[in-house]
Amino acid sequence: LAPLPRRPIRELPDELISQIAAGEVVERPASVVRELVDNALDAGATQVTVRLQAGGVRLIAVEDDGSGIPRDELAVALRRHATSKISSLQDLESVGTMGFRGEALAAINSIADMSLLSRTEGDSHAWQLDGRSGELKPVARSRGTTVEVRELFYATPARRKFLKTDATELAHCIEAVRRHALVRPDVGFAIWHEGKLIEQWRASDGAADQNAHDQRLSDVLGSELLAQSVAVDYRSGALHVTGRAGIPDAARARADQQFAYVNGRYVRDKVLTHAARSAYEDVLHGHRQPVYALYVAMDPARVDVNVHPTKIEVRFRDSREVHQAVRHAVENALAAPRAAAAALAAP
Ligand code: ADP
Ligand code: MG
Repeated sequence: LAPLPRRPIRELPDELISQIAAGEVVERPASVVRELVDNALDAGATQVTVRLQAGGVRLIAVEDDGSGIPRDELAVALRRHATSKISSLQDLESVGTMGFRGEALAAINSIADMSLLSRTEGDSHAWQLDGRSGELKPVARSRGTTVEVRELFYATPARRKFLKTDATELAHCIEAVRRHALVRPDVGFAIWHEGKLIEQWRASDGAADQNAHDQRLSDVLGSELLAQSVAVDYRSGALHVTGRAGIPDAARARADQQFAYVNGRYVRDKVLTHAARSAYEDVLHGHRQPVYALYVAMDPARVDVNVHPTKIEVRFRDSREVHQAVRHAVENALAAPRAAAAALAAP
């Protein structure tokens, strides 16, 4: 093979940079749903409505009643690395919002047709920004934001080809909302597909306490699961682990009902998965998969969430400490009802 002729080094155009970055953030429609719901929650929404067409490929619209975006910031919101959530490295150390990288909207805008529609408290009406043309027009809406994303991946057909059937993509979108719903019982969620309401989880009135969490778990995963699980509530130093752990009888063939959160963020983490699994070591046999929803609250300075653009991975400063706490939390929860039953049987 002849060597390629050398070409001069050039900076890539902005749009291409965004499209490349989008590959990391947006794998499929569900990735867009996750990012937009993250944004709605960061804006303080109490109700989030997701509307989909063709499994999200034709349309994803996420509507919230949050703080809204001021008119003159709408265009900025679409720029790369533009965020209202952090402004210094110090902020990053203790980030309390779902987002902070300022990448999602820019990424989505580079690979789909997007519009931002928003109204803040002080506005007399909403403004709608067309992501492609930059056109801004007044529209009617109450306070909050609606982001519409159409024809995902139209510009990147290679990615579009990797998409599965609409039904499969829809299932992933629902799963993305479910992950948010399980950690925010104080927020109402609704999912529509092709004009039909397919899921609706009402907000608890008031606090996101254990009762509210139990009710939401029952709404999202079913009342049988709630009945077949035990409460987890365990402290170790500054670590607090709460949630529910399914009894061994509730275990499943697939690991599709294992939800783990760190400081309110859904994560997929080997340390947490392994810790939870090891708590079932003596009571679960073969390849049965436990069911659980576990919430780890910890000092944000002891966990790094800036590991991957999707923020689904985290790195713990002391993973042994976290592993032990989660394992003990689940072990104790599983032991408690058996201990009580044994005590009852004793006399
Ligand atoms: P990030 O969430 O990391 O800040 P995004 O690209 O997702 O980056 O969003 C950019 C900015 O747009 C956010 O920082 C926020 O100020 C604003 N924004 C996006 N979605 C919403 C929303 N639903 N409600 C209010 N503001 C929003
Ligand atoms: Mg965001």
